[in-house]
Amino acid sequence: MKMKAAVVNPKIDGFVEVVEKEIRPLQFNEALVEVEYCGVCHTDLHVAAGDYGQKEGRVLGHEGIGIVKQVADGVKALKVSDRVSIAWMYAACGACEYCNTGRETLCRTVLNAGYTADGGMATHCIVNADYAVKVPDGLDPAQASSITCAGVTTYKGIKVSGIRPGQWLAMYGAGGLGNLGVQYAKKVFGAHVIAIDVNDEKLAFAKECGADLVINVTKEDAAKVMQEKVGGAHAAVVTAVSKAAFNSAIDCVRAGGRVVAVGLPPENMDLSIPRIVLDGIEVVGSLVGTRKDLEEAFQFGAEGLVVPKVQLRSLEETPEIFEEMRQGKITGRMVIDMKKGHSDCCGACSGQH
Ligand SMILES: [Zn+2]
Ligand SMILES: [Zn+2]
Repeated sequence: MKMKAAVVNPKIDGFVEVVEKEIRPLQFNEALVEVEYCGVCHTDLHVAAGDYGQKEGRVLGHEGIGIVKQVADGVKALKVSDRVSIAWMYAACGACEYCNTGRETLCRTVLNAGYTADGGMATHCIVNADYAVKVPDGLDPAQASSITCAGVTTYKGIKVSGIRPGQWLAMYGAGGLGNLGVQYAKKVFGAHVIAIDVNDEKLAFAKECGADLVINVTKEDAAKVMQEKVGGAHAAVVTAVSKAAFNSAIDCVRAGGRVVAVGLPPENMDLSIPRIVLDGIEVVGSLVGTRKDLEEAFQFGAEGLVVPKVQLRSLEETPEIFEEMRQGKITGRMVIDMKKGHSDCCGACSGQH
């Protein structure tokens, strides 16, 4: 049996190609998933460009949602017709110190979909049945694909921030991650939310999604505004991929505040030791989320508290989506609809793909 898949091209130059690939036989405790939707993310661009290592031919995608079509021997967690996710956290060892203490994302032998394991940007994907999280009824599967990555990552980041109802949370970055973060912080955690970005359009959308205060850092000193207006945030979650955002986050929290690092700029931040010691500031990293975190993040989506905004594209359009991403043209969340074919694609291609 064959599948169609978007894979890292042989030059590993940041481009992808859509190819036909043989589906390998299932192994013990694996399930075959027919993919319905898979979101496209900046992480995919990094994998395609070889930024994390040479992964020629790897099927990309860690925001997959699909239906279980077949289960191998040993599968207890899933059954045929279940709707499940294919997330970055593809599988872990299940036996180490981290796996046994609720920190499986830190497992030293973790496998990541679309990077160290073939991912969901394809018509089919093989999953480890114990690690594919079920999608609850009532959650739109295209929206679920965004929760699989951006949703669970910010949800976990907010959890790690320790924010409590009525406290002020600063969300640095109001893009794909930050926007969902604003919704989780406001509607699930009951926090007052400040959204910080460089883009007025994104900030306007954050306001629509519930942000109490928005700050454009190109016009105002975000930390100063927060210290003056609310006495400093109780916690900050930084999804922005910018060193300046991290530095500002340290300055924006009140004494005893916590700064959670989620975005991954490849730099160091400036950390004032007197500020950390005298004001008791905590700085901590948060990496995606566990299966349990994803289950919770999905459920809040199913209850309508968090609504990802997605735009559907076809698998054939994947190379174009990557090009648009490279040029920074993408504003919303692009999600590949595996059922969308030539005939009902954008039309702008004159049927060329
Ligand atoms: Zn992602
Ligand atoms: Zn482990």
